[in-house]
Amino acid sequence: MEKSNNYYIKTNRAFSHIRKYGWIITVLIAIGGQWEPKLGLTVVLIMAGLTITAFFNGRYWCGNFCPHGSLFDTIILPVTRNKKIPDLFKSKVMIIGFFAIFMVNFMRRILSVSRYWGTYDFFDKLGYLFSSTYLIVLIVGGILATLINPRTWCQFCPMGTLQKLAYKLGKAIGITKKTEKKITISSQEKCYKCGKCAKVCPFQLAPYLEFSNENKFDNINCIKCSTCVANCPAGILSLKNGNETEKVS
Ligand code: SF4
Ligand code: SF4
Repeated sequence: MEKSNNYYIKTNRAFSHIRKYGWIITVLIAIGGQWEPKLGLTVVLIMAGLTITAFFNGRYWCGNFCPHGSLFDTIILPVTRNKKIPDLFKSKVMIIGFFAIFMVNFMRRILSVSRYWGTYDFFDKLGYLFSSTYLIVLIVGGILATLINPRTWCQFCPMGTLQKLAYKLGKAIGITKKTEKKITISSQEKCYKCGKCAKVCPFQLAPYLEFSNENKFDNINCIKCSTCVANCPAGILSLKNGNETEKVS
């Protein structure tokens, strides 16, 4: 069914301090890093963190730790037009094409910075590379978030694609079977089919239409943010990894 632009609802998504205040890290790295480039080196830790968590738990980082995600969901949500995300931004051509262009450009810049290895300037140059990349995401992602939907950038974000690759590796090895948390419905018979879970989903996914026979939502793009859990009027959704449920306040 084609969704109208008024289908989606703005609702609180900041269920933790990290999700509420993580945007401060974005501003510090992206803007502060223009004056103090070493702040950009924090991005190395962020990239390591998102790759490792994705290996065990898919795009959990995007929904729970990402500083840009916090900016989009906390600062931009109140002012966004909250429209339907155009299919182009979700297409394979866009996701793979943008990832390839980003990676080639990123590696080219890393190589040029590597010439400074061993000099006093090396860490400033490297930090500036990361900081300026963070600033570009803040500007482009922020404009898309305001004009279209907070999580528009996230549809083709190279770090999201990197997480999907790490997740596929974890899945192929068989790790994710034990570690991955998925949106789970306690009973499909109790679902009102009201679509509220789809209307509040930051990624505009529709869990109620896609539950498996094991009552799991298997969509690789789910960022496990629990916004659907907090808003389901039937109270039948949870984020589970088999034997444990995550609480949402
Ligand atoms: S919000 Fe809950 S009751 Fe409504 S469609 Fe989704 S799972 Fe079903
Ligand atoms: S399906 Fe639920 S947990 Fe997954 S992204 Fe949408 S709202 Fe978040």
